[in-house]
Amino acid sequence: MTERALDHVGIAVHSLDDSLPLFESITGGKGYGREVVGSQGVEVVFVGSGAGRVELLAPVREDSGVAKYLARRGPGMHHLCYRVDDVAAELERYRAEGAQLIDQTPRPGAAGHLVAFIHPKSTGGVLVELLQAGHG
Ligand code: ZN
Repeated sequence: MTERALDHVGIAVHSLDDSLPLFESITGGKGYGREVVGSQGVEVVFVGSGAGRVELLAPVREDSGVAKYLARRGPGMHHLCYRVDDVAAELERYRAEGAQLIDQTPRPGAAGHLVAFIHPKSTGGVLVELLQAGHG
């Protein structure tokens, strides 16, 4: 099996404006790539680079997964995102293993990448995002 690189760590926050300066201070980077990702009901901004890259997520809809996460657990670490060559094939592999999927098919994520989430019940309590770069 090919080893996968960590693309970013997702952090759930109530407000991007309030939280970005803190994470700029932690990572030493500047915020970039801020956009609303409609398919997930969130607004995101990235900060840092390489293995230190962080994605801050704030809900734009009350029914979004991140809004529910914040209501239940408050701000904090939300997901790990790994780069894969083929998200659809990975979903098929997880499905065949009996894993619980949040996304049955890949959907558009930030920066036009294809993404899909695996339910934490099937990944040791950690929400895992799979990202296929350069598509969508
Ligand atoms: Zn992410």
